Amino acid sequence: MKFYITTPLYYVNAEPHVGHTYTTVAADCLARFYRMKGYDVFFLTGTDEHGQKIYEASKKEGLTPIELADRVSEIFKNMWEKINISYDRFIRTTEKQHEEVVKKVFKNLLEKGELYKGEYKGFYCVHCESYVNVEDKTKPICPDCKRDISEISETSYFFKLSKYQNILENIIENTEFVKPDFRKNEVLNFVKIGLSDLSITRRNVAWGIESPTDEKYTIYVWFDALLNYLSGIGYLYDEETFKKYWPPDVQLIGKDIMRFHHIIWPAILLSLNLPLPKKIFAHGWWISGKEKISKSKGNIISPEYFINEYGPDPFRFFLLREIPFGLDGEFSEENFKKRYNSDLVNDFGNLLNRTLNLIEKKFNDYVPEGEIDNQIIEISYDVYKKFSEKIENISFSEAIEEIWKLVVFLNKYLDEKTPWRETANSEKTIISVFYGIRNLLIFLYPFIPQTCEKMANMLGLKIEEIKKLGNFKIKYSGRIKIGKREIIFYRKK
Ligand SMILES: [Zn+2]
Repeated sequence: MKFYITTPLYYVNAEPHVGHTYTTVAADCLARFYRMKGYDVFFLTGTDEHGQKIYEASKKEGLTPIELADRVSEIFKNMWEKINISYDRFIRTTEKQHEEVVKKVFKNLLEKGELYKGEYKGFYCVHCESYVNVEDKTKPICPDCKRDISEISETSYFFKLSKYQNILENIIENTEFVKPDFRKNEVLNFVKIGLSDLSITRRNVAWGIESPTDEKYTIYVWFDALLNYLSGIGYLYDEETFKKYWPPDVQLIGKDIMRFHHIIWPAILLSLNLPLPKKIFAHGWWISGKEKISKSKGNIISPEYFINEYGPDPFRFFLLREIPFGLDGEFSEENFKKRYNSDLVNDFGNLLNRTLNLIEKKFNDYVPEGEIDNQIIEISYDVYKKFSEKIENISFSEAIEEIWKLVVFLNKYLDEKTPWRETANSEKTIISVFYGIRNLLIFLYPFIPQTCEKMANMLGLKIEEIKKLGNFKIKYSGRIKIGKREIIFYRKK
């Protein structure tokens, strides 16, 4: 079984903010989960480096566009390393290989009659890199980002988007293509207004892939960028890899780029006779003080701050746990701290500490041998089943809620069994809780991998043991010596 997952490519005009990290952490969680299930996973992410916006951003910094792209794509890579993003490929749209694929696709579509030359007259928003309709032409502003925009009038190659109107309506209505479900109507309404053909070249934009036509244009940056999902796995140059992974099983995007992904992207694939992605899931936005977090609003929340202050895993945990994935949520340090102290320090960290204390003091650093309590075996199976379903349904927050039932159960179990008392049958209690915690490390690994590895070390477990989902069924034989202890989560005031 294969699992192909993508994030959008991020523009290199700004450094990574919480929105980028959100999509990427979510994709990483899914990639890790499917690897743990034994799937052959391909996880693609990268940077979008062409277009007028990047050109202008580079000028502002006194750099050439490629200098800016080189610098910022490195910053993205470093950020992904810091929060343990396990991508299989980081693609840059300025790579030769990608550029070749875009040119070939353009040429193929031209030959197939899917493109034609015409005259584009209308408005263009550089910030959104998008052709937009405006209501008041005397004071044109972008309907999406509200910036001033100007009219352009130029010859251009058009993609016959309008011809896919009916088939797209049908796909949106009757398949899992648009996720979550409550977004379907939004996309459908937009399609039903009527689709116009899409200009896919720009006349006066210098920074882009050159069109393979006699008269030179640059290819529209979104047409270029969307094709990365094909070029990233070998389309038109490594057919074996491409056949193995196509189509994407899940593509994650923010809700602001649904039109490109739910309308233009499938139309391009239909014109190329390629199967469509199974699901394209649009997540919500993080809000800070009632507004979307963005560079232009000046309310950027620095991922770096939270990673340095709390650690990469608490940051990942908060993003995936705090709100349901499709909805908007408020990002504040107050909420972050609350979630951190209650879930990670009190519930999870304490459970581990109490158990290690007992093993250390009562059993000289060795996990006692014995039978595992059936209650804990049963709840482990139950949690496994339920959290897997949630995660497969891209409901991260609910998946963690399911796992937390086991955390809460184990803490209560220790309270009730009082294994620290002389009279208690503490061997059975300890080995049972030990088994329960080992299962927690397996279940939580997709969310907080670094923590789970550290905890596995402390418990004297092999890292490999917690990287396979089915391993939760394995019980213990032989004595296990616990490892060196360290405190992972410090309470924050
Ligand atoms: Zn705009």
